Amino acid sequence: MRDRIVVGNWKMNKDFEETEKMLTQLKSYSKPSGAKIMIAPSFTQLYQSVQSLKSTNIYVAAQNIGIAESGAYTGEVSPKMLKGVGVNTVIIGHSERRNIFQENDNFLTKKIKIALESDIMVIFCLGEKLEDRISKNHFEIVSQQLKKTIFNLSYKSMTNIILAYEPVWAIGTGETATAAQAQEMHFYIRNLISSHFNSKIADNISILYGGSVKPENAKEIFSESDVDGGLIGGASLNAEDFMKIANSF
Ligand code: PEP
Repeated sequence: MRDRIVVGNWKMNKDFEETEKMLTQLKSYSKPSGAKIMIAPSFTQLYQSVQSLKSTNIYVAAQNIGIAESGAYTGEVSPKMLKGVGVNTVIIGHSERRNIFQENDNFLTKKIKIALESDIMVIFCLGEKLEDRISKNHFEIVSQQLKKTIFNLSYKSMTNIILAYEPVWAIGTGETATAAQAQEMHFYIRNLISSHFNSKIADNISILYGGSVKPENAKEIFSESDVDGGLIGGASLNAEDFMKIANSF
């Protein structure tokens, strides 16, 4: 049975004080038994978050990772640095990294590989833009994103991959894919994985949906058979909303 996972991507939000407040609030809510919960604060708040959540079942992920183990990469953070502060999961390929920071599939594959080599679990994001959906090219775009990245990995590596389907037109826009649209794409992705790797890997991989998930729509989206949870942006900045979403299975 694959894991159900809800991840809060805080993006470039919450400084030290705000993180302290948020962590206290998160710890005050009852934890869902049915899902694994993770938060992804900024690099500067990772150690603080790991320490604070130590005796809870809320895990801490990073939002990014460098492309090498060490060296002349100004501004980057290595896998060893993440592991050193107790972080064992990283988000790679978020559409903001792809679009604002021009990270392409080739570059993202380097990040995936360096993370996996250090035993860091990868939450890999993929999804089409609005123009791709309008031109009905969305399946082809997602298929190409998989072929250029995840399909270059070994069978064994796949146990450390979580996928997040995030249609770009639904991220931070208030517009959500319908539960049927999410299910249709998740089913498509799982079939591609089954054809490229095998059905066992496809059955075991968690595929999260991301794009304006809120307490009001989470239950419907998570009830789809191929949706194994969510990657939550805006709504993860409010502890009550985030925990409601995490309890929506
Ligand atoms: C995201 O950034 O991954 C995301 C899904 O954002 P939002 O929930 O705000 O649409």
